[in-house]
Amino acid sequence: MINFHYARANDVADAVRQIAADPTAKFIAGGTNLIDLMKGDVERPTRLIDVSRLPLTSIEETGHGGVRIGALVPNSDLAYHPLIEQRYPLLSSAILAGASQQLRNMASTGGNLLQRTRCFYFYDTSTPCNKREPGSGCSAINGVNRNNAILGTSEACIATHPSDMCVALAALEAKVHVMGPTGARAIAFADFHRLPGDTPQRDTNLSRDEIVTAVELPENGFAANYSYLKIRDRLSYAFALVSIAAGLDLEGDTIKQARVALGGVAHKPWRSADAEVVLRGQVAAPESFAKAADLLLSDAKGYGHNNFKIDLARRGIVRALTQAARGTPQSQSVKKVR
Ligand SMILES: Cc1cc2nc3c(=O)[nH]c(=O)nc-3n(C[C@H](O)[C@H](O)[C@H](O)COP(=O)(O)OP(=O)(O)OC[C@H]3O[C@@H](n4cnc5c(N)ncnc54)[C@H](O)[C@@H]3O)c2cc1C
Ligand code: SF4
Repeated sequence: MINFHYARANDVADAVRQIAADPTAKFIAGGTNLIDLMKGDVERPTRLIDVSRLPLTSIEETGHGGVRIGALVPNSDLAYHPLIEQRYPLLSSAILAGASQQLRNMASTGGNLLQRTRCFYFYDTSTPCNKREPGSGCSAINGVNRNNAILGTSEACIATHPSDMCVALAALEAKVHVMGPTGARAIAFADFHRLPGDTPQRDTNLSRDEIVTAVELPENGFAANYSYLKIRDRLSYAFALVSIAAGLDLEGDTIKQARVALGGVAHKPWRSADAEVVLRGQVAAPESFAKAADLLLSDAKGYGHNNFKIDLARRGIVRALTQAARGTPQSQSVKKVR
C-alpha cells in the first residue's frame, strides 16, 4: 500500500500555491492516465491536487477570431462542440480517433497534453528506463521497439508522445496558456513538448509548479480541406503507429498554405517547416505530397522492429494530404456515440 495525500484546489491560484509548496505533488484531472501510472508504481506522487472542479470548462471565441478552450473541458465535449465541429473539424476528428467514448468523457484537455508515453518499458518497472528512472538506461533501443520513435530520438530515449489531439493542435498552431507562481504565460504548441535529448524524464517545457489553464486556437481551422489519418493495429481503442494531421488552404488546385503534423513517430508531434514551404504554390497532387513526405522524413531512423514506420508514414502523408485536397477527410465515418 502506498499512502498519498489528496486535496482539492479551490481555484487556479490555490492549485498553483499547493503544487509550489510540495515538490512531490501532482495535479489530477480526469485521472485516466495518472491513476494507471500510480497503480503500476510508475508514478509515486505523495500528494494529489484535484483540479477537476476548477472553472476551466468553457469554450469561447476570442477577440482575434480564434477559440479558447478551458483546460478542464472533457475531450468528448470538445470534439462535439459546434464551434469545433464547424471551424476546427481536424481537431474533432483527431480527438474522436483516440481512446474510447468512456475515456474521452473523463479525459481533460490539459491532461491529454500531459499524458505520458506508451513505451512498454516505461510501464514495466522491472526494466531500465531513462524516462522513469533517469540514468538507468533505455530498454527499447535494443528491445521491442515497434511502437517507438523514428524521428528526433536520442541515445537516452526513443519514446513517442501518444496523443492524437496534440497532433491536430500542432498542425493548427495552438497556444498553451499556463499559470505559475510568477504569473501567466503562453507557450507556442511547437515549444510545449520536448525532444528527449539527455533529459527524457521531462516531457514538456511546463514547469512543475505551473498549471495549464487553456488552449487557444488561431482563426484558421483549415475546415474545408483537412484530414486526420490514424494508422493503428486495431480500428478502435488503440494508439497510433503513425498518424497524420493535414490541413490545406487551396486556390483552385494550387496550395496557398499547408500544415502537416505527424503523431506516433517522435517524442512530440512532428512538423517540418521545409515540408510545408515546399508545398506552397504547388499543384495539390500526389507528386507534390510525396516531396513533402520526403522532407518530413529526411532524418527518420528505424530501430529494428519499427523500421516499417518510415514507409508507412511516407504513404500516410501522401494519403492524408490527398484526402484533404479532395475534401474527403475521413477514410471511415466517425459515429456520434454519447
Ligand atoms: C486504454 C486507454 C486508451 C487510450 N487511447 C488513447 C488514444 O488512442 N489516443 C489518445 O490521444 N489518448 C489515448 N488515451 C489517453 C487519454 O487521452 C489520456 O489518458 C487523457 O487525455 C488524460 O487526461 P486526464 O484528464 O485523465 O489526465 P490525468 O490522468 O488526470 O493527468 C495526466 C497528467 O496530466 C497532468 N495534468 C492534468 N491536468 C493538468 C493541468 N490542467 N495542468 C497541468 N498538469 C495537468 C497530471 O498531473 C498528470 O501528470 C488512452 C487512455 C487509456 C487509459
Ligand atoms: S524509449 Fe524512453 S520510455 Fe522507452 S525505455 Fe527507453 S527511455 Fe524508457
